[in-house]
Amino acid sequence: MPASSLDQIVSLCKRKGFIFAGSDIYGGLANTWDYGPLGVELKNNVKRHWWKTFVHKRHDMVGLDAAILMNPKAWEASGHISNFNDPLIDCKACKQRFRGDKLLEEKLGVEAAAVITLEQLQPMLTAEKIACPHCGKCDWTPAKKFNLMFKTQQGVIEGEGTDIYLRPETAQGIFVNFKNIAQTSRLRLPFGVAQIGKAFRNEITPGNFTFRTREFEQMEIEYFVEPGAEGPAFEMWKDTVWNWFTGLGIDATKLRIREHATDELSHYSSRTLDIEYDFPWGWGELFGLANRGNFDLTQHQTFSKEDLQYTDPDDPTKKFLPYVVEPSFGCDRTVLTLLLNAYTEEELEGGDVRVVMKFDRRIAPVKVAVLPLSKKENLISKAQEVRSMLIDQMDGNIDFDVTGSIGKRYRRQDEAGTPSCVTIDFGTIGEDATQGEVDTVTIRDRDTLEQKRVPISELCTSLKMPN
Ligand code: ATP
Repeated sequence: MPASSLDQIVSLCKRKGFIFAGSDIYGGLANTWDYGPLGVELKNNVKRHWWKTFVHKRHDMVGLDAAILMNPKAWEASGHISNFNDPLIDCKACKQRFRGDKLLEEKLGVEAAAVITLEQLQPMLTAEKIACPHCGKCDWTPAKKFNLMFKTQQGVIEGEGTDIYLRPETAQGIFVNFKNIAQTSRLRLPFGVAQIGKAFRNEITPGNFTFRTREFEQMEIEYFVEPGAEGPAFEMWKDTVWNWFTGLGIDATKLRIREHATDELSHYSSRTLDIEYDFPWGWGELFGLANRGNFDLTQHQTFSKEDLQYTDPDDPTKKFLPYVVEPSFGCDRTVLTLLLNAYTEEELEGGDVRVVMKFDRRIAPVKVAVLPLSKKENLISKAQEVRSMLIDQMDGNIDFDVTGSIGKRYRRQDEAGTPSCVTIDFGTIGEDATQGEVDTVTIRDRDTLEQKRVPISELCTSLKMPN
């Protein structure tokens, strides 16, 4: 049985140390979340797997790590200062503020809500009798634009510094470095630049756990092509990304592709589609793919007065601004989807229920748990030896657990999603041949519950992870 509610995941995340409420001891700070010991391993593994797939395994991709703070002119050029707005609507009765399109979306569905204009929002909410989620009244102000960028000041003297912004997307860091990368990497079109990093948006209504927060992490690619080649590149990325999600075990029946209608497109895009996941509260965007044309490079060329054209290495007279296809992943939404997707309740014989997180091995926060059967000193030291060997020879986090019965320890690892447990018993240390031969251990599989005995010398090969 998969997770039926978000609460199940939120409480498992807290109990197991995947994700905690931010600033918890101070009563929290609304909609901030901290990744705990298991969560940070899971998230890092997702990022590592993403980087491996989209940067290291491809000949046409390189990486970048650009600064969060950028010259404010970059945000003028990108259109974020004038266009990066959401429709804000106030409840006249209780003065709470909401994102009008999202209120409408809950009632009419995402397609219908997406095409409603700013002016139509208040009349639609009234006509549909959509009440304030806070006080239950239906008395709305007209909707107005609310810019989502976080503004701050650079400089030590308050009031005299320059207004700067926390980046609302990682993409612009790539565009402003396009010339640097094209000149230093000797890449030929088509090529892409990938970046993973924090982005900040002053969302009007954050919520649904880590789905919508004001600080989040993106994994973005800007894929540069010759003008005219963007259509096939768009299709290629659509398939590649779909396969990446399903390749990680995300249930394809809970994924769908949603093309944006023309009047829903962002100011920079001529075609956009989202990959959506069927979250416990309904379909929501997990990933976006946009055809940005040469909008960004044109804007940055105009505002910076730098020539950002690409020169064809075979024909130096051929100069042009490349077109761009942008696959944009939310890292936190990917992690949330993987948590929801992995959650499984299995009824065991006798009516007992086993909770198991069925993560793909490549992203599981703990790769292997080493479990000495008892706390006897020579068993523990042998188990520590095995753990050290695994740490040296395998990639990832190796756990060591001596507390509680072996059954309880297996259950704990099931809830963490550990694919394999390695048990060291008295057979391993040559004290009880009935348990197994000397220098052999038992591997217990999380999903099949199968146990097999292998020599320590073959342990790493038996546990080998796929790439
Ligand atoms: P939404 O419609 O949900 O606000 P968006 O279309 O504004 O999302 P994009 O600008 O396309 O989102 O950002 C790319 C990706 O970044 C999204 O697909 C999503 O996974 C992630 N993302 C965007 N906003 C947030 C947020 N506030 N919290 C967490 N992840 C986010």
